[in-house]
Amino acid sequence: MLHVAIIGSGPAGYYTAEACQKASGDAVRVDIIDRLPVPFGLIRSGVAPDHQSIKHVSRRYEAVALTDNVRFVGNVTIGEHVSIEELLTLYDAVVLATGAPADRPLDIPGADLPGVVGSAAFVGWYNGHPDHEALAPVLDGPGAVVIGNGNVALDVARILAKTEAEFAGSDIVSHALDALRRHAINRVTILGRRGPHQIAMTPKELGELGHLERAAPRVDAADLPPIEADAALDPGQRKSVALLRDFAANASAKPVDIVFDFFARPLAIEGEGRVERVVVERTALDGDGRAHGTGETYMILSGMVVSCIGYRTSPIPGVPYDKRAGRFANDEGRIAPGLYAVGWARRGPTGTIGTNRPDGFMIAEHLAEDLVQDSGKAGRAGLDALLSERDIDVVTFRDWQSIDRAEIDRARTGSPREKFTSIDTLLGARPAR
Ligand SMILES: Cc1cc2nc3c(=O)[nH]c(=O)nc-3n(C[C@H](O)[C@H](O)[C@H](O)COP(=O)(O)OP(=O)(O)OC[C@H]3O[C@@H](n4cnc5c(N)ncnc54)[C@H](O)[C@@H]3O)c2cc1C
Repeated sequence: MLHVAIIGSGPAGYYTAEACQKASGDAVRVDIIDRLPVPFGLIRSGVAPDHQSIKHVSRRYEAVALTDNVRFVGNVTIGEHVSIEELLTLYDAVVLATGAPADRPLDIPGADLPGVVGSAAFVGWYNGHPDHEALAPVLDGPGAVVIGNGNVALDVARILAKTEAEFAGSDIVSHALDALRRHAINRVTILGRRGPHQIAMTPKELGELGHLERAAPRVDAADLPPIEADAALDPGQRKSVALLRDFAANASAKPVDIVFDFFARPLAIEGEGRVERVVVERTALDGDGRAHGTGETYMILSGMVVSCIGYRTSPIPGVPYDKRAGRFANDEGRIAPGLYAVGWARRGPTGTIGTNRPDGFMIAEHLAEDLVQDSGKAGRAGLDALLSERDIDVVTFRDWQSIDRAEIDRARTGSPREKFTSIDTLLGARPAR
């Protein structure tokens, strides 16, 4: 028997469990351990609440979770309740699939003013992540600045711009919907250091901005390169840039503007005791496509700033960490004998949900090469003994299914579900023990 502990129940964790199952069948026992009482990582707490079809990928993970040789062990934080050293004595392999939950810091003066939030916190707030339920972002407008030119920036801008009716069918949590319903933001500026050809925004997400009820995207035609230059782009990027060209040509007036401010880098955030404005420097690209400041500066009035500039893996005691890259130090997923990393904890915060799948297969191959069967390690029985000795309140997959049902039951009209946002309420929604 091979005993595998996977730390983190997001896409990378479940794809790895699936790959181990495929490779070893009945000869493997997998425990997927998560610090939250609920599974699926960013599928639940990152993917936008109005993108329900994407969240449905978790059904595939559920099929894996409900097999006999895989189990979910929720409400257990590795590095706090149980150490990596302890896990390595209990399991043949420990696979870190802990993602990259911390915002990359915005390193400019004023970044610590009230009203500046990172996207992990803001997205976690509207998605019901227990760490961020108390965020209370400043939404009194009139402007909001979103820093970054990727899909997360688009998610944030769209969520700020939607009407309440446009959230029907989503699973946005009620504290966020209540706050967003009352907000006074009429201009969302998306700042990007580089230009339209350098965006990391995909056509589907970009296209959605063109169909919002009360908001319209604005692009300055002067920022667009000559149309002939689009031919050198890959097809996806060409589609995205074509959408930006449509936005530049579309002058429809709506109450909320979503302004794409290209070639613009934030220099400082200013205000008396809270965010009031962002000082921005105009940039130009050099021959290698790098942005350089031109010295020309201007001000954007803004009551809030959301920085969407990337994420970092949280270190775990005893695990080598690559500080520069913001993830665990690893060689193709191998960290140390018996210790591996997958997903964002291995590669950093890039790619889509599906990009995490090959990581699982790679690790299954490593395990076949590196490990011997029947090492005699205690596996799940050993973990259970340790957790019971430490009086840790574990949540199982069956418990999660009850929590899930309870969330759906208290759904508001028009919304498929309503999420619990605090650990206490989540634990309270389990069947009595
Ligand atoms: C805002 C946002 C929106 C996105 N939208 C899309 C989208 O629409 N489509 C798409 O394809 N991709 C999207 N992505 C990307 C996608 O979510 C990621 O590719 C994927 O979730 C990464 O998977 P992961 O398993 O590595 O990490 P995660 O999904 O972050 O899972 C990590 C898990 O580890 C757990 N954990 C962390 N530390 C510990 C610990 N010490 N002990 C125990 N457990 C721990 C966490 O609780 C979490 O459950 C989005 C990402 C973000 C940030």
